[in-house]
Amino acid sequence: MSKEIKRIGVLTSGGDAPGMNAAIRAVVRAASFHDLHVYGVFEGYKGLINGEVKRLESGDVANTLQRGGTILKTARCEEFKTKEGRNIAYETIKAYDIDGMIVIGGNGTYTGAKYFSEEFDIPFIGLPGTIDNDIWGTDYTIGYDTAINTAIEAIDKIRDTADSHNRLFFIEVMGRHAGFIALDTGIGSGAAYTFLPELDGGVSHLLDMLKKAAIRKKMFNIVVVAEGNANGSVHDLAKAVEENLKGYDTRVTTIGHMQRGGSPSAADRVLASTLGYEAVECLVKGIKNKALGIVDSRLFMCTFDEAINNRKPLNDAKIELLNVLAI
Ligand code: ATP
Repeated sequence: MSKEIKRIGVLTSGGDAPGMNAAIRAVVRAASFHDLHVYGVFEGYKGLINGEVKRLESGDVANTLQRGGTILKTARCEEFKTKEGRNIAYETIKAYDIDGMIVIGGNGTYTGAKYFSEEFDIPFIGLPGTIDNDIWGTDYTIGYDTAINTAIEAIDKIRDTADSHNRLFFIEVMGRHAGFIALDTGIGSGAAYTFLPELDGGVSHLLDMLKKAAIRKKMFNIVVVAEGNANGSVHDLAKAVEENLKGYDTRVTTIGHMQRGGSPSAADRVLASTLGYEAVECLVKGIKNKALGIVDSRLFMCTFDEAINNRKPLNDAKIELLNVLAI
């Protein structure tokens, strides 16, 4: 029989992502609906180790839904990776009488939750919060939709100047080892070519395509480069084109951390609100140690092990679409 939940802890961990505040707000409001208390833990797992914990009431999350970043701050905490660190964290959880934790972050955050929940009898619920969309068990992660909208908006602007000068821009987008951001940004911005970490090919393919385009007197403007692609940095790729093809004046832009900030999109607000609410419902129902997501418009739950160990593939149909529409 699960212990009745009266006090819930919530934290954001790993990289920040737009929509984290909407998730925190939903946790606080859903908990309030059930007459539960919520404790915000600051700076991810570090806050559990340093005792940085504060009661969050409904008013504390007013006017936060539309704000990017995270009101609870986030941090990377090496100490939590050790048993000693997690022992200290447990002392904080006991000191505040917290009966269940909701953690919002990426795979690292889930790994911390997995170890902690195996070692101590505290139920954990994980919510996928990362712009990279690289978490198995959910179609989209909180922050991803906003990030691709930001990237596409930036590329629309770059395209105006690229087109005016007949320049070929190489634009690096985030996503770490995964190509989700690059793939959707490539489709949504109408890129001539998109370098993805998941696909080989690369430079020679791009050169072939540009040569064929030149015969048709077509100039391309935009190449999207996933930061984790295996063909070289965005600068290397631009250099390869300048060295091998005459007539291409290249420029490089890295969109960078702009993709992590900004007001969350409607889709991220709805996703984060839904998952924040469902996380509280899970704890109330005695469900423990699950990662939540939305798959095919329905709530999906899996173990932390499943979320961490399964690799989420890119959608093949989208790759086909990208290639066909770029011609
Ligand atoms: P993002 O995808 O945005 O980088 P993330 O959650 O994967 O988010 P990480 O920095 O990998 O980000 O992990 C966040 C935190 O989770 C770490 O700083 C650490 O406190 C905890 N964590 C990560 N790996 C482990 C582990 N093996 N054991 C215990 N805790 C871990």
